[in-house]
Amino acid sequence: MDKVNVLGVNFDNKTYKQFQNEFVNRINNHLSTFVVTANPEIVMAANENPEFMKILKEDADYITADGIGIIKAARMLKTPLPERVTGYDLFTWLMEFANEERKRVFLIGAKPEVIHAVQEKISKEYSNIQLVGAEDGYFTEDLDLVARRIQRTQPDLVFAALGFPKQEKLLSILRKNAIPAFMMGVGGSFDVFSGHVKRAPEIFQRAHLEWFYRLVTNPSRFKRMMVLPQFIVKVKQSKKGK
Ligand code: UDP
Repeated sequence: MDKVNVLGVNFDNKTYKQFQNEFVNRINNHLSTFVVTANPEIVMAANENPEFMKILKEDADYITADGIGIIKAARMLKTPLPERVTGYDLFTWLMEFANEERKRVFLIGAKPEVIHAVQEKISKEYSNIQLVGAEDGYFTEDLDLVARRIQRTQPDLVFAALGFPKQEKLLSILRKNAIPAFMMGVGGSFDVFSGHVKRAPEIFQRAHLEWFYRLVTNPSRFKRMMVLPQFIVKVKQSKKGK
Protein backbone atom coordinates (compact mmCIF):
# COMPACT_ATOMS: atom_id res chain seq x y z
CA MET A 1 0.00 0.00 0.00
CA ASP A 2 1.50 3.32 -1.16
CA LYS A 3 -0.70 5.60 0.92
CA VAL A 4 -2.27 5.34 4.34
CA ASN A 5 -5.46 7.32 4.81
CA VAL A 6 -5.97 8.89 8.24
CA LEU A 7 -9.18 10.93 8.40
CA GLY A 8 -8.97 11.85 4.74
CA VAL A 9 -5.26 12.70 4.69
CA ASN A 10 -3.11 10.39 2.55
CA PHE A 11 0.22 9.68 4.24
CA ASP A 12 3.09 8.24 2.22
CA ASN A 13 3.92 4.74 3.41
CA LYS A 14 7.70 5.28 3.40
CA THR A 15 10.62 5.16 5.81
CA TYR A 16 12.76 8.18 6.64
CA LYS A 17 15.50 6.74 4.41
CA GLN A 18 13.11 6.30 1.47
CA PHE A 19 11.94 9.90 1.77
CA GLN A 20 15.56 11.08 1.87
CA ASN A 21 16.46 9.16 -1.31
CA GLU A 22 13.42 10.40 -3.21
CA PHE A 23 13.93 14.00 -2.10
CA VAL A 24 17.60 14.03 -3.16
CA ASN A 25 16.57 12.66 -6.54
CA ARG A 26 13.86 15.25 -7.02
CA ILE A 27 16.07 18.14 -5.89
CA ASN A 28 18.88 17.10 -8.23
CA ASN A 29 16.39 16.83 -11.10
CA HIS A 30 14.84 20.23 -10.27
CA LEU A 31 11.36 18.77 -9.91
CA SER A 32 8.75 20.93 -8.24
CA THR A 33 8.11 19.21 -4.90
CA PHE A 34 5.85 20.23 -2.04
CA VAL A 35 6.13 18.29 1.22
CA VAL A 36 3.75 18.47 4.18
CA THR A 37 4.80 16.99 7.52
CA ALA A 38 1.42 16.43 9.13
CA ASN A 39 0.65 15.90 12.82
CA PRO A 40 -2.77 15.21 14.40
CA GLU A 41 -3.45 18.96 14.71
CA ILE A 42 -2.98 19.39 10.97
CA VAL A 43 -5.24 16.42 10.19
CA MET A 44 -7.94 17.83 12.50
CA ALA A 45 -7.58 21.31 11.01
CA ALA A 46 -7.93 19.89 7.48
CA ASN A 47 -11.12 18.13 8.54
CA GLU A 48 -12.56 21.49 9.61
CA ASN A 49 -11.19 23.56 6.74
CA PRO A 50 -12.03 22.34 3.20
CA GLU A 51 -9.57 24.76 1.60
CA PHE A 52 -6.73 23.30 3.69
CA MET A 53 -7.85 19.71 2.94
CA LYS A 54 -7.86 20.54 -0.80
CA ILE A 55 -4.24 21.71 -0.55
CA LEU A 56 -3.23 18.46 1.15
CA LYS A 57 -5.14 16.35 -1.38
CA GLU A 58 -4.33 18.17 -4.60
CA ASP A 59 -1.11 20.13 -4.16
CA ALA A 60 1.11 18.17 -1.78
CA ASP A 61 3.49 15.69 -3.42
CA TYR A 62 4.40 13.96 -0.14
CA ILE A 63 2.81 13.82 3.30
CA THR A 64 4.90 12.45 6.17
CA ALA A 65 3.74 11.34 9.62
CA ASP A 66 5.00 14.06 11.93
CA GLY A 67 4.12 12.78 15.37
CA ILE A 68 3.48 9.63 17.29
CA GLY A 69 -0.28 10.37 17.18
CA ILE A 70 -0.35 9.66 13.44
CA ILE A 71 1.66 6.44 13.87
CA LYS A 72 -0.79 5.26 16.57
CA ALA A 73 -3.80 6.17 14.43
CA ALA A 74 -2.43 4.26 11.41
CA ARG A 75 -1.83 1.23 13.65
CA MET A 76 -5.38 1.46 15.06
CA LEU A 77 -6.70 1.50 11.49
CA LYS A 78 -4.68 -1.68 10.78
CA THR A 79 -2.68 0.11 8.08
CA PRO A 80 0.56 0.83 9.97
CA LEU A 81 3.12 3.40 8.84
CA PRO A 82 6.80 2.48 9.27
CA GLU A 83 7.99 5.40 11.40
CA ARG A 84 7.70 9.03 12.43
CA VAL A 85 9.29 11.45 9.97
CA THR A 86 9.42 14.88 11.55
CA GLY A 87 9.69 18.25 9.87
CA TYR A 88 12.59 19.22 12.10
CA ASP A 89 14.67 16.14 11.29
CA LEU A 90 14.06 16.58 7.56
CA PHE A 91 14.83 20.28 7.78
CA THR A 92 18.20 19.88 9.53
CA TRP A 93 19.20 17.04 7.21
CA LEU A 94 18.21 19.09 4.12
CA MET A 95 20.25 22.05 5.39
CA GLU A 96 23.31 19.75 5.60
CA PHE A 97 22.58 18.52 2.10
CA ALA A 98 22.11 22.08 0.79
CA ASN A 99 25.45 23.03 2.33
CA GLU A 100 27.29 20.10 0.75
CA GLU A 101 25.73 20.75 -2.65
CA ARG A 102 25.93 24.59 -2.51
CA LYS A 103 22.19 24.91 -3.07
CA ARG A 104 20.12 28.09 -3.25
CA VAL A 105 17.89 28.32 -0.16
CA PHE A 106 15.02 30.68 0.66
CA LEU A 107 13.80 30.84 4.28
CA ILE A 108 10.64 32.59 5.40
CA GLY A 109 9.08 32.55 8.85
CA ALA A 110 9.41 33.11 12.59
CA LYS A 111 10.05 36.36 14.44
CA PRO A 112 12.64 38.87 13.15
CA GLU A 113 15.18 38.07 15.90
CA VAL A 114 14.80 34.34 15.19
CA ILE A 115 15.36 34.60 11.45
CA HIS A 116 18.39 36.82 12.12
CA ALA A 117 19.84 34.18 14.43
CA VAL A 118 19.16 31.55 11.76
CA GLN A 119 20.98 33.68 9.18
CA GLU A 120 23.98 34.00 11.49
CA LYS A 121 24.09 30.30 12.15
CA ILE A 122 24.02 29.60 8.41
CA SER A 123 26.85 32.03 7.68
CA LYS A 124 28.98 30.33 10.36
CA GLU A 125 28.05 26.67 10.09
CA TYR A 126 26.53 26.26 6.62
CA SER A 127 28.63 28.76 4.71
CA ASN A 128 28.33 26.98 1.36
CA ILE A 129 24.58 27.53 1.26
CA GLN A 130 23.56 30.33 -1.09
CA LEU A 131 20.95 32.03 1.05
CA VAL A 132 18.84 33.80 -1.59
CA GLY A 133 16.25 35.04 0.92
CA ALA A 134 15.65 35.16 4.68
CA GLU A 135 12.52 36.95 5.84
CA ASP A 136 10.53 36.90 9.06
CA GLY A 137 6.99 35.52 8.98
CA TYR A 138 5.12 38.59 10.12
CA PHE A 139 4.56 40.22 6.73
CA THR A 140 1.37 42.06 5.86
CA GLU A 141 1.34 41.62 2.06
CA ASP A 142 -0.82 38.93 0.57
CA LEU A 143 0.59 35.50 -0.10
CA ASP A 144 0.60 35.84 -3.90
CA LEU A 145 2.97 38.78 -3.68
CA VAL A 146 5.26 36.96 -1.27
CA ALA A 147 5.20 33.90 -3.53
CA ARG A 148 6.23 36.02 -6.52
CA ARG A 149 9.14 37.46 -4.54
CA ILE A 150 10.34 33.97 -3.60
CA GLN A 151 9.97 32.75 -7.17
CA ARG A 152 12.15 35.56 -8.54
CA THR A 153 15.13 34.41 -6.44
CA GLN A 154 15.14 31.01 -8.22
CA PRO A 155 15.62 28.90 -5.09
CA ASP A 156 16.42 25.18 -5.05
CA LEU A 157 14.85 24.80 -1.61
CA VAL A 158 12.17 26.85 0.16
CA PHE A 159 11.35 26.41 3.85
CA ALA A 160 8.32 28.20 5.29
CA ALA A 161 8.01 28.38 9.09
CA LEU A 162 4.72 30.26 9.40
CA GLY A 163 2.63 27.67 11.23
CA PHE A 164 -0.18 25.83 9.45
CA PRO A 165 -2.21 26.45 7.31
CA LYS A 166 -0.44 29.66 6.28
CA GLN A 167 2.83 27.96 5.34
CA GLU A 168 1.02 25.35 3.23
CA LYS A 169 -1.08 28.03 1.53
CA LEU A 170 2.05 29.93 0.52
CA LEU A 171 3.87 26.85 -0.73
CA SER A 172 0.82 25.60 -2.63
CA ILE A 173 0.90 28.81 -4.70
CA LEU A 174 4.53 28.13 -5.62
CA ARG A 175 3.71 24.48 -6.36
CA LYS A 176 0.82 25.48 -8.62
CA ASN A 177 3.28 27.71 -10.48
CA ALA A 178 5.45 24.58 -10.74
CA ILE A 179 8.61 26.38 -9.63
CA PRO A 180 11.55 23.93 -9.87
CA ALA A 181 12.18 23.86 -6.11
CA PHE A 182 11.78 21.58 -3.12
CA MET A 183 9.34 23.21 -0.66
CA MET A 184 8.38 22.24 2.85
CA GLY A 185 6.43 23.81 5.73
CA VAL A 186 8.48 23.48 8.92
CA GLY A 187 6.32 25.01 11.70
CA GLY A 188 8.39 26.03 14.69
CA SER A 189 11.69 24.64 13.28
CA PHE A 190 13.47 28.00 12.95
CA ASP A 191 12.82 28.66 16.67
CA VAL A 192 14.58 25.40 17.54
CA PHE A 193 17.33 25.69 14.88
CA SER A 194 18.25 29.19 16.12
CA GLY A 195 18.38 28.00 19.73
CA HIS A 196 15.46 30.23 20.80
CA VAL A 197 13.43 27.15 21.74
CA LYS A 198 14.96 23.93 23.02
CA ARG A 199 13.94 20.61 21.57
CA ALA A 200 12.99 17.93 24.10
CA PRO A 201 15.98 16.02 25.54
CA GLU A 202 16.78 12.74 23.77
CA ILE A 203 15.23 10.67 26.57
CA PHE A 204 11.81 12.30 26.01
CA GLN A 205 12.12 11.88 22.26
CA ARG A 206 12.97 8.20 22.60
CA ALA A 207 10.04 7.60 24.95
CA HIS A 208 7.78 9.40 22.41
CA LEU A 209 7.05 11.99 25.09
CA GLU A 210 8.22 15.05 23.19
CA TRP A 211 4.67 16.41 23.33
CA PHE A 212 4.73 16.08 27.14
CA TYR A 213 8.03 17.96 27.42
CA ARG A 214 6.63 20.74 25.24
CA LEU A 215 3.50 20.93 27.37
CA VAL A 216 5.42 21.18 30.64
CA THR A 217 7.86 23.79 29.31
CA ASN A 218 5.16 25.78 27.52
CA PRO A 219 1.78 25.32 29.26
CA SER A 220 0.07 27.74 26.84
CA ARG A 221 0.11 24.82 24.39
CA PHE A 222 -2.43 23.01 26.55
CA LYS A 223 -5.43 24.20 24.55
CA ARG A 224 -3.80 23.15 21.29
CA MET A 225 -3.06 19.73 22.71
CA MET A 226 -6.67 19.12 23.58
CA VAL A 227 -7.20 18.19 19.94
CA LEU A 228 -5.20 14.98 20.53
CA PRO A 229 -7.89 13.06 22.44
CA GLN A 230 -10.49 14.34 19.96
CA PHE A 231 -8.29 13.08 17.14
CA ILE A 232 -8.11 9.59 18.65
CA VAL A 233 -11.91 9.50 19.14
CA LYS A 234 -12.43 10.53 15.53
CA VAL A 235 -10.02 7.87 14.27
CA LYS A 236 -11.90 5.21 16.30
CA GLN A 237 -15.19 6.39 14.81
CA SER A 238 -13.76 6.28 11.29
CA LYS A 239 -12.60 2.71 11.93
CA LYS A 240 -16.12 1.65 12.88
CA GLY A 241 -17.52 3.28 9.77
CA LYS A 242 -15.14 1.33 7.51
N1 UDP B 1 4.75 32.42 12.70
C1 UDP B 1 5.06 33.28 11.68
N2 UDP B 1 4.08 34.12 11.22
C2 UDP B 1 2.81 34.10 11.71
C3 UDP B 1 2.50 33.17 12.74
C4 UDP B 1 3.51 32.34 13.21
O1 UDP B 1 6.18 33.33 11.20
O2 UDP B 1 1.97 34.87 11.23
C5 UDP B 1 5.82 31.53 13.19
C6 UDP B 1 6.07 31.51 14.67
O3 UDP B 1 6.94 32.56 15.02
C7 UDP B 1 6.71 30.13 14.86
C8 UDP B 1 6.06 29.30 13.75
O4 UDP B 1 5.44 30.22 12.87
O5 UDP B 1 8.09 30.21 14.60
C9 UDP B 1 4.95 28.35 14.21
O6 UDP B 1 5.34 27.65 15.28
P1 UDP B 1 4.45 26.57 16.01
O7 UDP B 1 5.20 26.14 17.20
O8 UDP B 1 3.05 27.06 16.15
O9 UDP B 1 4.45 25.45 14.88
P2 UDP B 1 4.22 23.90 14.94
O10 UDP B 1 5.56 23.32 14.62
O11 UDP B 1 3.67 23.50 16.26
O12 UDP B 1 3.25 23.73 13.80
